[in-house]
Amino acid sequence: MDGASSIASNLSALRAHIAEIARVAGRDPHAVRLIAVSKTHPLESLRAAIDAGQRDFGESTVQEALPKIQTLSANDLAWHFVGHLQTNKAKFIPGNFAWVHSLDSAKLAARLSRIAQEKGTRLNALIEVNVMRDPAKHGVAPEVLPALLEQLLGDRLAGIELRGLMTIGPYDASEKETRRCFARLRALRDETRERFNLSAFTELSMGMSGDYAHAIAEGATMVRLGTAVFGERDYSRAPQADASV
Ligand SMILES: *Cc1c(COP(=O)(O)O)cnc(C)c1O
Repeated sequence: MDGASSIASNLSALRAHIAEIARVAGRDPHAVRLIAVSKTHPLESLRAAIDAGQRDFGESTVQEALPKIQTLSANDLAWHFVGHLQTNKAKFIPGNFAWVHSLDSAKLAARLSRIAQEKGTRLNALIEVNVMRDPAKHGVAPEVLPALLEQLLGDRLAGIELRGLMTIGPYDASEKETRRCFARLRALRDETRERFNLSAFTELSMGMSGDYAHAIAEGATMVRLGTAVFGERDYSRAPQADASV
């Protein structure tokens, strides 16, 4: 199979698998959004996915994403920023991305909101939670979440809409440990939504190529799939750092 047809067949197999796992878990099969994480992959791979009906794409650096977003702007796509976001890159997010998955501070939120308002747009935001307190990961610790929410709501950020939580599952962990992490994120979303009375705080971005089945079983509404859609990443072809933007 050539690259384009393998991407199309990966996507159709993944859609079927996602729907099946959701059904088995007693969930609506349409309640899980597949985000194709296209970092390091060339435009032709994204075009193959678009031709196969894919509309949600994830990128993790501004410098790699912007040329792709501009080149593919004639398509009706929803872009998701899934990487760690430095405050000095915030200005590139509203207007280019519909979603940010990695909100982790009130300062970043305030900046994103201000820029979104200046651009006359709104940004859907997920707060990244470091559920397992992994020192190598970004995101806020679970116990910090209520204080962050209080501050965000107190700041009345008109340019961003708080939509839910995101996490990255534990690397190389057992099924039990992985599911415990995802179940914890779901509980945190439920507690947060109730405590702060946030009707739109519904999303759970969790699950990557290696653990999306567990994430869906635990309630994921968005899975972020790179390798499973596009194949292995070749980092020599794409920028890793965001320094030049
Ligand atoms: C790269 C990346 C993904 C996709 O990873 P795969 O294991 O290739 O599916 C998902 N989420 C984030 C935050 C990423 O950086």
